[in-house]
Amino acid sequence: MRKLASIQRIKALEPIENADAIEIARVLGWQLIVKKGEFLPGDLAVYCEIDSLMPEKPEFEFLKPRGMRIRTIRLRGQISQGICFPLSILPDGFAVEEDSDCTEALGVTLYEPPMPACLAGIAKGKFPSFIPKTDETRVQVLQKLLDKYKGEKCYVTEKLDGSSTTYFIHKGEFGVCSRNLELLETEENSYWSVARQMDIENKLRSLNKDLAIQGELIGEGIQDNKLKIRGQTIRFFNAFDIGRFEYLPFQQFTDTMEQLQLPTVPIVSTDYELENEVDAIIRMATIKSKVRPEVWAEGVVIRPLSEKLDLLLSNENFNNGRVSFKAINPEFLLKYGG
Ligand code: AMP
Ligand code: MN
Repeated sequence: MRKLASIQRIKALEPIENADAIEIARVLGWQLIVKKGEFLPGDLAVYCEIDSLMPEKPEFEFLKPRGMRIRTIRLRGQISQGICFPLSILPDGFAVEEDSDCTEALGVTLYEPPMPACLAGIAKGKFPSFIPKTDETRVQVLQKLLDKYKGEKCYVTEKLDGSSTTYFIHKGEFGVCSRNLELLETEENSYWSVARQMDIENKLRSLNKDLAIQGELIGEGIQDNKLKIRGQTIRFFNAFDIGRFEYLPFQQFTDTMEQLQLPTVPIVSTDYELENEVDAIIRMATIKSKVRPEVWAEGVVIRPLSEKLDLLLSNENFNNGRVSFKAINPEFLLKYGG
């Protein structure tokens, strides 16, 4: 689970040209605007990330016009992501400790966009335990990981803003899953109709092994179809060997997709040497889409060319330990309100 609200240190404060009342604060790998003088460098504060849905309490009243949701904004030409509050907003008795999670204590929840009918579906069961769910951690909370893997050869793919889809063959059975559920086949359901349209079941069966493939369903009716695709389709980003409980490394993944004649997500780079500066990575994520060049891409996903697991990524806050993370394009968030 993502820590939406946590206790963090103000790493630095920087002035903004021609602005007397506000300044930039650096918290984790984020930058945000704060009132000048409200915090000093080194102070602890309650930091709430973008996509936090704040409870309707007097101290958060100012967010009401924005639906109580914390979003990316631009002020005086500066991107601001998240909000810092003084520690005094914590409930009495809350033990103040850097990095501790106060999401629940404050009643903060995650903003989730409404789900269109074509994605709702009927649950066949829980998401299978023999496949990891898809997820990516935000680069802004991964400074330690960046320091550890600096210089590592990585591939970078474009992050598409659709809906996570998993197809698998396991013990002879074909399965279709949304991000959190396995789904029954129904006519109205897009995960299934696209599977039939792309002939996924036959293609997976042709490999004669227990394999899952995971991708992003995009197109009409999904997340406002920002890339203006006709119909619906899937671009894949994972192949997972169920028997070995392992992702295929990049080369094997692309070979498999080629063999199956299935499209991958757009590949931005295959020889990116990982940098350990969040700002540089965010700049790299500030690109137009390879699918539709006049539209901002949502961002990028970065992974080592050879698969890696790291315990830095397997505590309760992050994903399943796979070294893989996302950098979201701030221009995309500004434009679409994230
Ligand atoms: P988010 O959409 O912010 O929850 O980020 C994680 C999700 O991004 C994953 O669960 C995938 O469904 C999706 N995604 C879109 N494009 C990619 C990509 N190129 N690589 C990996 N995941 C992706
Ligand atoms: Mn998404």
